[in-house]
Amino acid sequence: MLRQMDALDVAGKRVLVRLDLNVPLKEGKVRDDTRVREAAPTVKALAERGAVVIACSHLGRAKGKPDPALSLAPVAPILAHHVGRPVQFVPDTAGEVARQMVAAAKPGDVLLLENTRFEAGEEANSPELSARLAALADLYVNDAFGSAHRAHASTAGVASQFARPAAGPLMARELAALGRVRDNPERPFVAVVGGAKVSDKLGTLKALAGKADTLVLIGGMANTFLFARGVGIGASLAEPDLASEAREIMAAAEARGVKVLLPTDVVVATDVDSPGRVVAVGGVTPTDKILDIGPASRAAIATVLAGARTTFWNGPAGVFEKPAFAEGTMAIARALADSKAFTVVGGGESVAAVQQAGVASKISHVSTGGGASLEFLAGDVLPGVAVLEEP
Ligand code: ADP
Ligand code: MG
Repeated sequence: MLRQMDALDVAGKRVLVRLDLNVPLKEGKVRDDTRVREAAPTVKALAERGAVVIACSHLGRAKGKPDPALSLAPVAPILAHHVGRPVQFVPDTAGEVARQMVAAAKPGDVLLLENTRFEAGEEANSPELSARLAALADLYVNDAFGSAHRAHASTAGVASQFARPAAGPLMARELAALGRVRDNPERPFVAVVGGAKVSDKLGTLKALAGKADTLVLIGGMANTFLFARGVGIGASLAEPDLASEAREIMAAAEARGVKVLLPTDVVVATDVDSPGRVVAVGGVTPTDKILDIGPASRAAIATVLAGARTTFWNGPAGVFEKPAFAEGTMAIARALADSKAFTVVGGGESVAAVQQAGVASKISHVSTGGGASLEFLAGDVLPGVAVLEEP
């Protein structure tokens, strides 16, 4: 059983809360504050319940030492705005300055620590850093699902230093939605997997091939499977080295009665800046690149999705960043939005596509954790979650 934040008595306690404030930055400015907005209610709830809130997060790919371009300082006023309370920025992650500022804080105060990845011990999951972080607080809450698949000091390491580490509400919601897909999907369960590479998603594909009723393959992912079936894919993005793995996945799926749906027509061009042509699979010339699924494939996938009771989608159907090759991806987003199924979408680009299609509010659960959601569905134990389970 997942231990939850609501079960903790936080009044008058110092609560270290791991958030996902890993926002996209451009020239020192926060380009999209979605993650801050989503994290704010957790902080607000803790502050209103009388905790001293000590928020922390990583930001970008800081390499274990301070990098002014990746400071969380510009996030503090945005968090303050969404929480509706002042947020004191702490220009230190877990050292003397942090200790002093925490010691001076009162119930209801909110502090934001500097980027956890400014510390070399973060990605190394160092017990020394975990202990320094733990010494700042009485209680620990992890609400950063997107970082839960990594055993880092601010996720797994620090949690193990507390008697009752708990999951925040965003984390709990992610696990409930993804758990419903993984452990107990209402059938038919249709999984749609696309995107750039098979190698990123091999474990998830194998798991879904044993669990879904229909596995729909699209995007660059489908190219490798078409190639594995002996179909000419021209100059398309693919991983020919994984052809035998792809054949094994298809064979395993068929052996279990899982249908595997591949595109029957595709949109091709010699490059992403040229206009596309629709051709049947089999009609791709050596210089063509498959850049989207074609209209017959879109219709077939929409029909399958319309009959589903559970759907999971990860990975676009084409190079949707270019309008000429976005139609397949938009069609899938709309089909999911129209469906009565329990719908879950995960993955950075897939979530962006759902937003681009304007249908995010019609998806049952939009998962913020790309890698974490795939590893969870693959059946892997997420180290940041395992420590939050009550024995
Ligand atoms: P997600 O972030 O949703 O998990 P991925 O990162 O796996 O998805 O893949 C997203 C990328 O895949 C997009 O940038 C898109 O342009 C690319 N892509 C999809 N289909 C193709 C294709 N047929 N050829 C080349 N790139 C593709
Ligand atoms: Mg991606």
